[in-house]
Amino acid sequence: MTLPARDTRVTYPDGALTTTTEVLHVAQLGDGRLAVLTEVSSFHPVDAAWPDQPADAGVLRAGGVAVPIRDAVVAATDGAELFLGDDIPVRKGTEGWAFLVAHLVDDDAAIADGDEIEIESDASVRAALSIGHTACHVASLALNRALAGNWSKPAREDALGSPDFDGIAIATSRIQPNGSTDTYRLNKSLRRAGFDTSAVAADVLDTLAATVEATLAEWGEAGAAVGIDRDGDGLTDRRYWVCELPGGTARIPCGGTHVAALSELGRVQVRFELGDDAGTPVLRMRTTAHPDH
Ligand SMILES: [Zn+2]
Repeated sequence: MTLPARDTRVTYPDGALTTTTEVLHVAQLGDGRLAVLTEVSSFHPVDAAWPDQPADAGVLRAGGVAVPIRDAVVAATDGAELFLGDDIPVRKGTEGWAFLVAHLVDDDAAIADGDEIEIESDASVRAALSIGHTACHVASLALNRALAGNWSKPAREDALGSPDFDGIAIATSRIQPNGSTDTYRLNKSLRRAGFDTSAVAADVLDTLAATVEATLAEWGEAGAAVGIDRDGDGLTDRRYWVCELPGGTARIPCGGTHVAALSELGRVQVRFELGDDAGTPVLRMRTTAHPDH
């Protein structure tokens, strides 16, 4: 058995849904599943370090048989051992390691090293996650803009020049079909950085939502184009979400999938709520796109 020495080349950042490729390695996971590692993949896997966008849904076809893909994660190998997801002991892109898309299938699938297979992502699931992910990015930029007047000290700026509340306070981000949920820590270090947390007190959250939605409506009407820039086609090559917004070009590191223009999001709604995460007060922003409106 030989483990792959090079990253999987990925085509989903360009919007590809299908690919025909060679199976480099099939690993028995011992839990009823196989990990199928391929040379090329159009199937978006969940990232281990920042698991914001879930894996695509879909099938692979081997010898004319359609095999459901149960999940897709990132795998890494140093040539001696194979690690999956959270078990990967090194940072993405570490010298001497190959990072691959692992398509997880039931272990009764007849797939072997060297087979040529076809991989196919479900178009409607991908479209809904791409809408959700683009909505997530623009909502975070609109939130930064809405909160820009609530900093008493200079703060790191976002892609449009506003203090980067999203980048400084984010705890988790989860992309869902047509939307996302972002959780922000309202802790001491945020206050020490100069952010006035009364700007996100319970009685102002509806006003904040209206301000964010107004910005999103303005950007949506401008029909801003969205694209992915990337340094290469390997799984770990850096990729950036690029959006031509009225206030300037936003460029944000991102490994996910996106729509081609903000007009595809339709009306974007945000809702805020305060909560608690193990004793830390948090702000949650739920973003929902309505592509038919
Ligand atoms: Zn992203």
